[in-house]
Amino acid sequence: RSVSVCGGGGCVASGSLKLIELLQEEISREGIDCLVTLSGCMGPCARGPIIKIQPDGVLYQDVCAEDVPEIVSSHLKEGNILERLCHRRPDTGTPVPREADIDFFRHQKKIVLAQCGTVDPLSLESYQKSGGYQALQQALGELSPDRIIGILQEAGLRGRGGAGFPTWKKWRFTRDVPGEQRFVVCNADEGDPGAFMDRSILEGNPHGLIEGMAIAAYVVGASKGYIYVRAEYPVAVERLSRAINSAREAGILGDSMMESGISFDLEIRMGSGAFVCGEETALMASIEGQRGEPRPRPPFPAESGLWQAPTLLNNVETYANVPPIITNGAAWFANTGTEKSPGTKVFALAGAVVNTGLVEVPMGTTLGEIIYDIGGGITGGKSFKAAQIGGPSGGCIPREHLSVPLDYESVSKLGAIMGSGGLIVMDDDACMVDVARFFLEFVQEESCGKCVPCRVGTKRMLEILNRICEGHGMEGDIERLEFLGNQIKETSLCGLGQSAPNPVLSTIRYFREEYEQHIHQRH
Ligand code: SF4
Repeated sequence: RSVSVCGGGGCVASGSLKLIELLQEEISREGIDCLVTLSGCMGPCARGPIIKIQPDGVLYQDVCAEDVPEIVSSHLKEGNILERLCHRRPDTGTPVPREADIDFFRHQKKIVLAQCGTVDPLSLESYQKSGGYQALQQALGELSPDRIIGILQEAGLRGRGGAGFPTWKKWRFTRDVPGEQRFVVCNADEGDPGAFMDRSILEGNPHGLIEGMAIAAYVVGASKGYIYVRAEYPVAVERLSRAINSAREAGILGDSMMESGISFDLEIRMGSGAFVCGEETALMASIEGQRGEPRPRPPFPAESGLWQAPTLLNNVETYANVPPIITNGAAWFANTGTEKSPGTKVFALAGAVVNTGLVEVPMGTTLGEIIYDIGGGITGGKSFKAAQIGGPSGGCIPREHLSVPLDYESVSKLGAIMGSGGLIVMDDDACMVDVARFFLEFVQEESCGKCVPCRVGTKRMLEILNRICEGHGMEGDIERLEFLGNQIKETSLCGLGQSAPNPVLSTIRYFREEYEQHIHQRH
């Protein structure tokens, strides 16, 4: 048997690293042959620390130090799966079903997260044993760059950073622009409140990202890549650095990538907490050492990116999808999801839902399925009111649209955007005007100030929202918010400003009566 201990942020915070030591001590005391390894995030973050025992497929949740001797002596030594863990909650204990029987997992389909929770993120060998770097080897040995672009086109992979632009087109554009030097860049500057999809991939399977970027570099002809990651993610940065170093030592990265004669190396650049640096032109300015401010597009990065060279820029989840597509084929990938949005999407499920955590579902799964089948419904027996999707650039989806499939087109028809995958669930106690104010305050503070509509417009909107929330709203305030919001969307320079009014406009669209109540009940 082997034991994987979840090393995701939630589990580490609740003491999973200490459990590794205790398990190893107890196993050696009992004289059992059993490997204990760290793994990436297994998903149900609120139930940590979590340990998985293979090949039994048993997931112990809410494990505490006092549970360790019993798990080792009964399960690992005798093979008796424990019915309950009783130390943390002596009255009931925690029921222990097989992973395959837990609703939270049963309704998911894992492509990007398939190795998070199984491979050891600190071990190149562990990644290779699970098939890691075979896609890169296959790409370098058997597939031309044009063929790989063709595979991505057949698979229908779209950028997972938010806008859903076809990945193959971006790769094709970058490859076709003439230039001596090219770059590949990964946007890992995940700044949305409540989002932790990219962090979990970086922490749980850093080699998956490196492999995807190395394949991209081969396709577009880049010799250098940058991963732009938030400094607020120290564990991700550390695991990524270790993974890059071990890939270099193994000859996977470097002057002759996998002995192919092709040179590619990676460097990490840390962001300093500016939300706007998640915007691609600001991100590239920051990598160049300049102030992280957006610039007008065109030219797009494919044409003139880092230091004016052709640059391919995708986010973490997009690159992490590439190795499984190369290994399993385009048809395999296109079989999951919808016709226009194939594959899966990772969501960070948070808020008033029973099972919070990291989930991956086929595109087109409905919001209701995520909240009720996977999330276990609303906490405290309350009713669902709305879900904020896509962070501050997104919008809210109300109860009447619970059955809408989550894919790029359907979500944008509702006035929201998929964004990178933050999903915050609200119950019927939530005040939607307050929710809109929270997100607007966030983007207002994060506006870089370069252009007037975003710098001044979001401030005026926030003033109106503040007076509405404080009981001093005036007749016409809702219309003023709508007018300003639409102007800002149309005239702002970058995506931050263009999407900043979304939470306000979508809450007015679906919860106008709450705004009216606030205004009419003014003090
Ligand atoms: Fe800066 Fe906002 Fe203008 Fe973007 S839209 S350039 S964040 S001021």
